[in-house]
This record gives sequence, C-alpha cells and structure tokens, in this order.
Amino acid sequence: MISLKHVSKWYGHFQVLADCSTEVKKGEVVVVCGPSGSGKSTLIKTVNGLEPIQQGEIVVDGIAVNDKRTNLAKLRSKVGMVFQHFELFPHLSIVENLTLAQVKVLGRDKTAAKAKGLKLLERVGLSAHADKFPGQLSGGQQQRVAIARALCMDPVAMLFDEPTSALDPEMINEVLDVMVELAKEGMTMMVVTHEMGFARKVANRVIFMDEGKIVEDRNKDDFFDNPQSDRARDFLAKII
Ligand code: ADP
Ligand code: MG
Repeated sequence: MISLKHVSKWYGHFQVLADCSTEVKKGEVVVVCGPSGSGKSTLIKTVNGLEPIQQGEIVVDGIAVNDKRTNLAKLRSKVGMVFQHFELFPHLSIVENLTLAQVKVLGRDKTAAKAKGLKLLERVGLSAHADKFPGQLSGGQQQRVAIARALCMDPVAMLFDEPTSALDPEMINEVLDVMVELAKEGMTMMVVTHEMGFARKVANRVIFMDEGKIVEDRNKDDFFDNPQSDRARDFLAKII
C-alpha cells in the first residue's frame, strides 16, 4: 500500500531524511518512533506529498507521489492525515467540518455527505455533538472528530502524527481507543507516537528513527524485547 525506496530530503544543506526505505502492506499498522528532531513528521508528510523529496521514490496505492503528473489533491483525499493539533475549521459546526471536503473534493451530494459524516461521528462516539462548534468540544473530542473527518473520505490509509501528544492525560485513551478500533478493522496505518502501549497492542512493526535515518524497522515484539541498536535501547529506557 505504501512504499518508500531510498528516500532522501534536505532543507538547504541540512539532510533531514537519509536513504529511508520501508513498506507498509495493506492492513498493516506501523508505529514510527524516535527522538525529537529525528525526522518522523517529515517522513510521514512525504507519504502524502505534503513535503517534497529530492531523492528516492514513494508509491501509495499505485500512485507515484513524486511524479510531477500526480494529482496531489486526489492523493491526499485517499490518504487521511491526523496531526497533533486538531485543525478543525473553528467557524464550522462539527457536521459541517465532516461534510465540507466530501462535497468539495469528492463531489458528493450534500445529503449523502452529511449522512456519511453523521455515521462516522457515531462511530467515534460523538453523535450528540453534531451541531456544536469545535471550540465547544474537549481536545480529545476534537481529535476524534478529526479522525472521523479523515475517514469520511474513505481513505486507503491513515497517517497520524503524534495525535495524542497535545492532549491532557485523561483524554489520551479515548483517542487511542478509536485508533485501536480502526487498526482492528484492518485500516492501513502509519502512526508517529510515543504511546508504546498502543504500539504493543496493535502495531505490526515499529520503525525507529534517529538523525533522519531508519535505524530499526522490525516486528513489534522483536523491537521491544530485543532492540538491536544502542540508540533504540536508550530511547526505550527513557520512555517506558
Ligand atoms: P520529528 O518529527 O522527529 O521531531 P521533524 O521531521 O519535525 O522531526 O524534523 C526533523 C528535523 O528537520 C529537525 O531538525 C527540524 O528542525 C528540521 N526541520 C523540520 N522542518 C523544517 C523546515 N521547514 N525547515 C528547516 N528545517 C526543518
Ligand atoms: Mg514531529
């Protein structure tokens, strides 16, 4: 579903990604972790073309992301992305947030889009809040709306960039629970997170990054039980 081959990227003279290669198969959940500044956000942003690369090749569901002829808007509609900050439209109600891109990008009819939005709102347990505005919801609720909004587009894969790190502790689990459900239903996911309980529960593989490189890309149990690099060992010792 997602393939990165020898991906390198520079900001000016600074190399932020160095020869990164990995694959995410359909239905796989891959957790990306590593120290701050190691290139995790940049890596997952390259997957839906939010960050261009200078070397290598990225293919998502058969689409060559870095081919100039690729329609990036179409690609992004197929790959849902959820960031640390919820990025809902503050002046639109929850149901309008869920409907807008379906109508504008996919050309869905408004009634069908609204029905789909309400269905997904129910799935994240927020049916009662359809007519509220984002500012009236807690951070955890807003993040669940952001996930529902991405799902409204029928994505082939979902990318998450530290979706719980801006949340108060008591709200983290309500968001992780939605993500666990999604993983169990077979969604293909790349998740940047330091929530190692989540990784233990649902990840198939863990990618550990350091200084722009993929240092480990291994089966979850192998990674946790027997990290191969000193860097990953140090990292795990600090966060678990
Ligand atoms: P992580 O998500 O692992 O914390 P990032 O991918 O955000 O790491 O950043 C990796 C490195 O690239 C950091 O050193 C960061 O300062 C740098 N960086 C990120 N975005 C930019 C940018 N737009 N311009 C220049 N440097 C950047
Ligand atoms: Mg980051």
